[in-house]
Amino acid sequence: MTSLAHFQKIAEALALPGKAIIGGHKVPAVSGITFDNVSPRDGRVLNQVAACAAADVDIAVESARAAFEDGRWRKLPYREKKRILFKLADIMERETETLAVLESLDVGKPISNTLAADIPQAIRTTRYYAEALDKIYGEVGPETPDRFSFAVHEPLGVIGAIVPWNFPLHMAMWKVAPALAMGNSVVLKPAEQSPLTALKLGELALEAGVPPGVLNVIPGMGGEAGKALALHNDVDMIAFTGSGAVGRLLMQYSGQSNLKRVSLELGGKSPHIVFADCPDLEMAATHAAWGIFYNQGEVCTAASRLLVHESIADAFVDKLLGVARSIAAGDPLDPATAFGAMVSAEQMKTALRYIDTANREGGALRLGGNRTRIESGGYYVEPTVFDHIAPSATLSREEVFGPVLAVTRFSGTDEALKLANDTPYGLAAGLWTRDVSLAHRAARELRAGLVWVNGWDSCDITMPFGGFKQSGFGRDRSLHALHKYADLKSVSITLL
Ligand code: NAD
Repeated sequence: MTSLAHFQKIAEALALPGKAIIGGHKVPAVSGITFDNVSPRDGRVLNQVAACAAADVDIAVESARAAFEDGRWRKLPYREKKRILFKLADIMERETETLAVLESLDVGKPISNTLAADIPQAIRTTRYYAEALDKIYGEVGPETPDRFSFAVHEPLGVIGAIVPWNFPLHMAMWKVAPALAMGNSVVLKPAEQSPLTALKLGELALEAGVPPGVLNVIPGMGGEAGKALALHNDVDMIAFTGSGAVGRLLMQYSGQSNLKRVSLELGGKSPHIVFADCPDLEMAATHAAWGIFYNQGEVCTAASRLLVHESIADAFVDKLLGVARSIAAGDPLDPATAFGAMVSAEQMKTALRYIDTANREGGALRLGGNRTRIESGGYYVEPTVFDHIAPSATLSREEVFGPVLAVTRFSGTDEALKLANDTPYGLAAGLWTRDVSLAHRAARELRAGLVWVNGWDSCDITMPFGGFKQSGFGRDRSLHALHKYADLKSVSITLL
């Protein structure tokens, strides 16, 4: 049975996790302080969650360090680590429905998305790194008669993972799975808007046999728990996904403390170019619409700037509007819903503010532009499309992180590529063309970490993910992510 009533019943019966997980125990914050965890679905408080701060971070890092030093995870034979991570994936799969409901309640995402994408992708990520962990080899140096040299990967130690609210469990696993696969201990700090699945993950990891202290989860405010973690002198690395503003702070905190490594996955203002020889206008329009409206536009790779050739622009925008109008907006727990609530009142207000600015700057509003479902008490904004947005307009320059599309028309190929690259960001870019030479040339000229030709967001865990320019540095996904959580040690043995 997959009806709204079914998921509502699960939601009502769920025991919502609210305590931190430190050293294998569920604990309140040292201060005893909790914060209201609000559901954007209806604006109601779901539960009270431990507001961890510096004192809790100290205990969590101490516990992670002790686990690392005594080798209870690091020194386990790789077959054992692998078995435990596979078991974790199996347990997550068993709990798919629970995790999906927790995520939908906490973030406002449609249950259809969390069941089909968020949770399965988190599980796939866990299995990918479990499978990969014994495929990482060191190197043997060039042969010399009197010396044998080799390089080995060694885990960094204690990893602080600070993750966002847009794909809470999925982003957490992009960090936690490769960090654990390389033998590290982890302190995971979920976003204050979305602590539930991270806390559940901490429980499930213990059930799977991840030893106590190896994965600690500390919910709390960014400026308290997150800051204390990033300033901690016994944390070896911060793996982060979130805003550029916090990314900048994390680099400062690193400099002010122990020069811990920092990897940053930040936002974007990704260009999606439709050339005049687009091979399939219907398909491109569908991708253009879902490229911005999937997950209510709260996606770092959102296709938020649509650049379309002037010769096809009118017809293309009409097709896009047709797709956007057909998107089923509604209650996140209704399986028929494809477009849910924004994560918080604050994020909704940000999107409405950008809509207001685009109107004032002369953008042609073609669809949406309003808050909806106000009677629910939740935070809903309509899919919104602005045409004729100037390259200098605020909507062309700044990331909204909401369901607001800026359409800009171009007349030549070089102009399109110039417009596409005219941004401080460099996360993703896409283009539609039949011309194989143009596809290759454009893919190389676009300054972005991800480029998609004839399909938006068309790759998976097997390919690296990360930004150029101010979209950050360091890569999640693929085997490259494993190296981020290890140091390379060169050993030379003189043969006497
Ligand atoms: P944010 O960067 O403020 O939060 C991300 C994480 O950082 C959260 O866990 C938060 O608690 C933590 N954090 C906040 N302040 C911190 C500090 N001083 N020290 C350490 N950790 C801290 O993002 P947000 O407020 O949730 O969203 C604001 C904007 O960030 C969005 O509009 C969007 O542009 C961007 N964002 C990007 C992504 C992404 O996937 N790249 C995800 C979410 C948000």
